[in-house]
Amino acid sequence: MSYRCFLFLGVVLSIFSQSGFCSPSVYQGEYLVQLSHATRASGAEAGYHLVQVDRGLSLRSAQAQVVEYDQARVRADCATLAADLGSDLSHCEPNAYWELLATPNDPKYGSLYGLEKLNLPAAWNKTKGSRGVIIAVLDTGVDYTHPDLAANMWRNSGEIADNGIDDDGNGYIDDVYGIDEFNEDGDPYDDHGHGTHCAGTVGAVGDNEVGVVGVNWNVEIMALKFLSAGGGGSTVDALGAIDYAIDNGARVINASFGGSFYSQALYNAIERANEAGVLFVAAAGNKTRDNDEEPNYPSNFDLPNVISVAASDQNDKLASFSNYGDEKVHLAAPGVRILSTFPGNRYAALNGTSMAAPHVAGLAGLILSEYTDYSALQVKNLMMNTADVMESFVGRVQSGGRINAAAALQANGSAKGESPEAGSGGEESPVSEHRVRLKRKKRGRRFQATVLGGTEGALQAVTLQLRNRSGSTSCELGELELGGRTRVHFSVPKSVAFTAVQVGEVQSRELRVSSRSRSRKRRRARRTRSLESVCGRIAVRMRSLRPR
Ligand code: CA
Repeated sequence: MSYRCFLFLGVVLSIFSQSGFCSPSVYQGEYLVQLSHATRASGAEAGYHLVQVDRGLSLRSAQAQVVEYDQARVRADCATLAADLGSDLSHCEPNAYWELLATPNDPKYGSLYGLEKLNLPAAWNKTKGSRGVIIAVLDTGVDYTHPDLAANMWRNSGEIADNGIDDDGNGYIDDVYGIDEFNEDGDPYDDHGHGTHCAGTVGAVGDNEVGVVGVNWNVEIMALKFLSAGGGGSTVDALGAIDYAIDNGARVINASFGGSFYSQALYNAIERANEAGVLFVAAAGNKTRDNDEEPNYPSNFDLPNVISVAASDQNDKLASFSNYGDEKVHLAAPGVRILSTFPGNRYAALNGTSMAAPHVAGLAGLILSEYTDYSALQVKNLMMNTADVMESFVGRVQSGGRINAAAALQANGSAKGESPEAGSGGEESPVSEHRVRLKRKKRGRRFQATVLGGTEGALQAVTLQLRNRSGSTSCELGELELGGRTRVHFSVPKSVAFTAVQVGEVQSRELRVSSRSRSRKRRRARRTRSLESVCGRIAVRMRSLRPR
């Protein structure tokens, strides 16, 4: 395919701007371009074309070189492309590099503790999943011959296996279990292992006297390979796979991969999934970073169907490697020493938010087998609202907790995934106490408090506790309504040494305002200044953050 195929008039070129602290990776010289008119009306079609600037290289990402993103270069090349093509380009972006999110050091021993943690044995009394629910694993492929997976694979009913014919005319030959966008064929066999591992957590066959069991005993796993044997893949290959999932009735897509590149094309594909009611479960990343500050994609995409998953460990702590984010990461699930299926009739234990995401995708499958008409957002909200809130996750993930399958399934239809009330399954009702988490922003004396939970609708006074050597004071900031999630932003003057936020009776931990100071003398002078008039000088902003 040559880019000279596209000959249209008029050039409208939009290149997104990239923000963030880390350098994303892209395939050198490869661009996704979108034409303005011709493609818009074509429905599910992505409308993006892969174009290579340096035609000396293959168009396939297998042969392409991964380089650090260079915005100046991208702008120059996109502009050249547009000029060369004389095309009506509406969008041009580099073909980004995505990688799987398992950590390289595999522990030798793993277990299925995750299933116990999620209270799955109790949940299975209600449902063990259903063959009617299709969960797509967007990854390195799946070993569909694995004895613990074969019976739970999705099958394309319109395709006759191995006859070399595209029986259903969908553009893929012999796509029985899914597709391989990386190698551009209909055989998504896993030549890496990562995708097979994720698939086993979603739905290794239960009660078959073999190996492990998945979150779902019964489910239909669709294999979508877009990551190579080396564990890397490109935007253009992800797009085709996502559209395949949408077109073939997947309810959930598991995305155990990520990168720091904001791809508008990938965003648009996941938005199409949202419109089709498909939940998109994304791993939060393994760099021990705050995703609120340094974005990881696709988990950071602000779309109602995207659920971002951090990894927890055997002790319900945040895994040491896991990314987090009070706003941009929704919940946690087990991701340390997870035992699951591996190609060639094997089993392996892996670490990663890659391993956490399929627990969530799996739970979404159980929920959809029970509440078949739930929307993606309802499923997401139900999982967030019934998560086990724990100290280790409050302020680290939006729900403040790790998923609980039994609670999610007992929180029956009345919850509809919209109310923040958790598990009303006849047990003791969960605590109506609220929590206040205080966090210092990266620079300066700006702080952010998050108020979570509490009795719906209850009004509570918000006060700021300030302290220095001369004494302490509290500033009334107003009232806020509990039950949702409210964030309070404020900055404090230099004369304050320590601050905390109190909501009703509940106080956050106390944080030091400024740790760096030029001289001890000045520091002392500052702290001994009276706090009397400080309240009037504090800028406050409150906003309610209802789960979307
Ligand atoms: Ca076909």
